[in-house]
Amino acid sequence: MSEIKVVSLSYELRKGGPEGEIVESVESDKPVQFLVGAGRLIPRFEDNVKGLANDEAFEFTVKSDEAYGPVNEKAVVDLPKDIFMVDGQLAEDLLEVGKVLNMQDQEGNPHRGQVMEVGEESVKMDFNHPLAGMDLHFKGKVLDSREATPEEISHGHVHTGKDGH
Ligand code: ZN
Repeated sequence: MSEIKVVSLSYELRKGGPEGEIVESVESDKPVQFLVGAGRLIPRFEDNVKGLANDEAFEFTVKSDEAYGPVNEKAVVDLPKDIFMVDGQLAEDLLEVGKVLNMQDQEGNPHRGQVMEVGEESVKMDFNHPLAGMDLHFKGKVLDSREATPEEISHGHVHTGKDGH
């Protein structure tokens, strides 16, 4: 029997704990569907949601160590401003404090970073996950839960509608 399920949820995600700031809010009229048990989500999140039945509510906190890990100071870096040149022009519109940029390292791996500071010659960027160092508090409800199909399991994502994608 498959341990992998497709679970539809509505939930609120808060930083730190039950009274924390709301980071994400998913309403029941627009639920999200997760493939649970396939190891694609935070394991502690899967553990808490996997066994629940339809209409069952949940509320739990995932410690930062079991979520996105601690803030890594080495992921805050100063980059030379000239890498933000596009066609010989400094891409000024990208260089705003707080802006999140999709960048690539020398091997072509994607990294999301947030602009922290724009200096004369360099730009300080934070490549930590936005939820690094935070405990995550989830509160919500299971709207639907079913076994995943073999196709969904092999693709690693949920299929909706008749033709899947
Ligand atoms: Zn697919």
